[in-house]
Amino acid sequence: MELIDGNKIAADIVTELKAEVAQINGRKPCIALVRVGEDPASVSYVRKKEKTAAEIGVTSRIILPPVSISQAELCALLDALNADPTVDGILVQSPLPKHIDEVAIFRRVSPEKDVDGFNTLNLGKVAQEDETGFVACTPAGIMELLARSGVDLKGRHVVVVGRSLIVGKPVALLALQKKAGANGTVTICHSSTTNLPALTRQADVLIAAIGRPEFVTADMVKPGVVVIDVGINRVPDSSKKTGYRLTGDVHFPTVAPLASKITPVPGGVGPMTVAMLMKNTVKAFRLGQAR
Ligand code: NDP
Repeated sequence: MELIDGNKIAADIVTELKAEVAQINGRKPCIALVRVGEDPASVSYVRKKEKTAAEIGVTSRIILPPVSISQAELCALLDALNADPTVDGILVQSPLPKHIDEVAIFRRVSPEKDVDGFNTLNLGKVAQEDETGFVACTPAGIMELLARSGVDLKGRHVVVVGRSLIVGKPVALLALQKKAGANGTVTICHSSTTNLPALTRQADVLIAAIGRPEFVTADMVKPGVVVIDVGINRVPDSSKKTGYRLTGDVHFPTVAPLASKITPVPGGVGPMTVAMLMKNTVKAFRLGQAR
């Protein structure tokens, strides 16, 4: 069994981006990070994005509206960022407060600056295999992990468990694309799938994006499978200082010995998300310069 080291692969991407940004004369790529309120997980995610941007040489503009901001005010803020020629990418940290329509906000971000890839147009471009779009960071990160680990999906059965817009659906579309590294035969499963283990046991590559701790067990996989565990679940654990431990959607202790390659949690898909956000920001800058 080989561990797919997301920390190492993400660090390699950061190093590559740093070299690329260093070559840019004049204004550097800039990402606006919008965080509404003080949700502790969001605070730490935005801090990580800011830190990685600084490491690469990407400018970040942190915007911290109060939790009481209205939908109209947030839209006005995004309109201003959309119109600002010195901002290349915009990220609105999820989750947003309950009174905000999150999907409407994601749609409000200009497609050219939608480095999170949640805008309708960019999701459509994934389906159309139009490379001028932005692929959502987690699915893009999964494909990059596979490619850099030498896993070619061509002709292989890729089983995705989960059909969210953020992970399951886009990663299934990416695995299906008619291009090098992809060309997989894809099955997408969800909570209404009958006899899930019979399908997951057919997987050459299993992508688990379910949000249920240690859901995938040894009896659900075949020997030699490549496992990508997207799940990030907090399980109460009194022995930890935080009071919880992080676990994936895969029962690592029993599945790992059967797998040919597997991502750990933490340290697998997670670190890739921020690296791909930065990659998208540099791409947005380049596309903007060319317009
Ligand atoms: P969602 O809750 O949006 O989607 C979960 C999917 O799993 C749904 O399609 C759901 O089916 C399916 N599902 C739930 N229960 C079952 C079941 N018993 N059998 C089969 N399918 C089931 O989650 P996300 O896609 O947003 O996230 C998934 C996981 O990935 C989470 O743990 C999340 O924290 C993590 N994540 C990690 C990221 C990273 O950077 N590493 C980024 C984003 C997410 P249905 O559609 O029928 O409800």
